Amino acid sequence: MSERMIIYNRLLPPPRFLAINLFGLIFVRHGRRLSDVDLNHERIHTAQMVELLVVGFYLWYLVEWGVLLMRFRNVMRAYRNIRFEREAYENERDMNYLKSRKFWAWMR
Ligand SMILES: [Zn+2]
Repeated sequence: MSERMIIYNRLLPPPRFLAINLFGLIFVRHGRRLSDVDLNHERIHTAQMVELLVVGFYLWYLVEWGVLLMRFRNVMRAYRNIRFEREAYENERDMNYLKSRKFWAWMR
């Protein structure tokens, strides 16, 4: 992912988050920086998005977040348990992960 795909701005994402991946573009709050691990995390989301034709990714993401929110009653805990986030957090430190990642790995 090139630096061109990172957009620093004052609106997105909400303050508790470092970055948000919208259609393969990474939005980062002004004054914050992405580490290689953060970038790898966002790249994993881009791979997930491609597999679900982008729209499917966002629909699934929001529905699962909603369901988990009802279960945990905690925004951050629900977020961390979304299957896309679990795959991304579990593998973000492995810089070669995307080279060997299986199709629909987030389903496991
Ligand atoms: Zn994430």
